[in-house]
Amino acid sequence: MDNNKTIVWFRRDLRVDDNPALAAAASSGSVFPVYIWCPKEEGQFYPGRVSRWWLKQSLANLGKSLKTLGAELVLIKTNSTLAALLECINATGATKVVYNHLYDPVSLVRDHNVKEKLVELGISVQSYNGDLLYEPWDIYDERGNALVTFDAYWEKCLYMQKEPVSHLPPRRLVPAAGKVEKYSVEELGLEDELEKSSNALLGRAWSPGWSKAEKVFAEFVERHLLEYSKNRQKVGGNSTSLLSPYLHFGELSVRKVFQCARMKQILWAEAKNSEGEESVTLFLRAIGFREYSRYLCFNFPFTHERSLLSNLKYFPWNANQANFKAWRQGQTGYPLVDAGMRELWATGWIHNRIRVIVSSFAVKFLLLPWRWGMKYFWDTLLDADLESDILGWQYISGSLPDGHELERLDCPQIQGSKFDPEGEYVRQWLPELARMPTEWIHHPWDAPPTVLKAAGVELGLNYRNPIIDEDLARQRLTEAIFKMWEMEAAAMAGKNEIVVDNSENTDNLPIPKIILRDITPCPTYSSNDQRVPTINNSKNGPLSKKRPKHNEDERQQLNNLQDRTSEAGSTRREEQLCSTAESSAAKKQNTSRCSFSVPHSFSPMAGESLQEYESFELNQPQKDQIDMERS
Ligand SMILES: Cc1cc2nc3c(=O)[nH]c(=O)nc-3n(C[C@H](O)[C@H](O)[C@H](O)COP(=O)(O)OP(=O)(O)OC[C@H]3O[C@@H](n4cnc5c(N)ncnc54)[C@H](O)[C@@H]3O)c2cc1C
Repeated sequence: MDNNKTIVWFRRDLRVDDNPALAAAASSGSVFPVYIWCPKEEGQFYPGRVSRWWLKQSLANLGKSLKTLGAELVLIKTNSTLAALLECINATGATKVVYNHLYDPVSLVRDHNVKEKLVELGISVQSYNGDLLYEPWDIYDERGNALVTFDAYWEKCLYMQKEPVSHLPPRRLVPAAGKVEKYSVEELGLEDELEKSSNALLGRAWSPGWSKAEKVFAEFVERHLLEYSKNRQKVGGNSTSLLSPYLHFGELSVRKVFQCARMKQILWAEAKNSEGEESVTLFLRAIGFREYSRYLCFNFPFTHERSLLSNLKYFPWNANQANFKAWRQGQTGYPLVDAGMRELWATGWIHNRIRVIVSSFAVKFLLLPWRWGMKYFWDTLLDADLESDILGWQYISGSLPDGHELERLDCPQIQGSKFDPEGEYVRQWLPELARMPTEWIHHPWDAPPTVLKAAGVELGLNYRNPIIDEDLARQRLTEAIFKMWEMEAAAMAGKNEIVVDNSENTDNLPIPKIILRDITPCPTYSSNDQRVPTINNSKNGPLSKKRPKHNEDERQQLNNLQDRTSEAGSTRREEQLCSTAESSAAKKQNTSRCSFSVPHSFSPMAGESLQEYESFELNQPQKDQIDMERS
């Protein structure tokens, strides 16, 4: 072992097992593990109450583990991560800083800046992949372009020649001595006094920390993985792995999860257990969505603010604060939506299916800007994860080539009878509907007065009438889409003097501030090293839009519109955009930079259907859609 002193900068890799940065530091000398809490640098993505509660427990757990191995986790609260790192370097005489990569837009910028400054000061910096099966810059198509559909991406991952490998935890750590201003986990201020009572219940349901994560995962594999394909649709109860908060904070190595699930798959395949095989395929697809969320953020680092597809640039959002409040508080008059929002409010957790339903409602029924919903989820979810949150909201809002179509509007009443057939979920979260018979539970507004009376429901008094009628919502959505097309067509035809490009006003609408407390009861460039996205590259913009599917009534109108826009359309097809993957891949291949062009399958004129995560049509599965629930 050399006598190097290394600062191990922990972030969202709060584990000792399969932690490449920690392993590398431990094998080369003494270590100084540090976690730096810098609220100022989190900006608008300062973590919400429940997420901070989780972080606090998780840091305590990691601290104990590191102590057992021989080194103390130093906690620092600061206004500048760079200053804190420099303080650690000065105090210890360390010559190197190591950390594992993050890919969300906030960390990408911060890490790049910190690294640049440290390198300028002559400090060696080495970063590693601690969060993904494969780095985003290792997956691209044969032309070096970023992949923009999940299936294409996941297929590439599954058939990569090099299998992901994992590291064992270090046997022991040699501590590097150094005196810096340390904080206790309590002093970091992750949980204030007022929040403590609201957080008390969380501890009964969840056990944060890497050592717990291993147990939760082992139990899931032994007891639930086999039936994942059958159970994952159930919206109540523990039908899925519940691993997302652990994975968000890096308490569980995704490579280990992958390897363990793959082993099960091989064993079940040998035993001709098709249910088990199918379950692992779907579970791994879910892991694949998480990977893909990082891939998209890295390659298109603007996606927390703008849609991946450029169509939504002209969408006339209805930035109505009262509707936003009603949605947040579970007061929309649609029982399944309200139940989901109340569960989220009370527990910080909702099933993936419910996430799709409530988010789709906000965007399609209320025309609320998707970024408002994304931020609210970020503030309230226990597993709040910027990349997955962005992927989820872009997926439901017509922003992805293989996500939901923009004009697709799913009726919560029908979804209720499909996903909560007995109404148990609604009754659990909406006590005011507890006595409603199952027949009417998902559409109480249709129930005969005698039924309502017997159930103690007074519409408009103790449960509200629907905030918007479904037919009206459909009509408004269609109008909004036509308006969007018109504005886009006019902009394309060069009539900018009469059309306002509202992307600044809509995509970048200020997100309302919500007080959640009130609502809760030497430079190294190895192959491991972090690539940097071309954040300031103005060409690195959204992809051109996909053409939504349309019904017969709308076809004529659409044809007229298409005639008017055909000229603009051909220009659009030729539109070329750069992605970061393309640039990294291009660098890697040592070729000159070539631009990213939208494949023909996404071209509006190609008329091809695209894949999406989910299909609500039980009898007519839409084969060409990605299924978030299949995952
Ligand atoms: C609008 C919207 C917002 C979302 N916001 C978040 C978020 O902030 N944080 C978050 O972790 N997930 C988010 N998701 C994805 C998904 O709902 C959760 O990951 C999942 O419900 C977590 O439950 P689980 O761990 O039991 O999942 P399982 O079904 O057991 O899946 C295993 C793991 O795969 C990953 N995963 C599964 N589905 C997805 C997905 N669609 N996208 C990305 N990763 C996935 C998660 O890490 C999950 O822990 C969002 C989905 C939508 C539709």
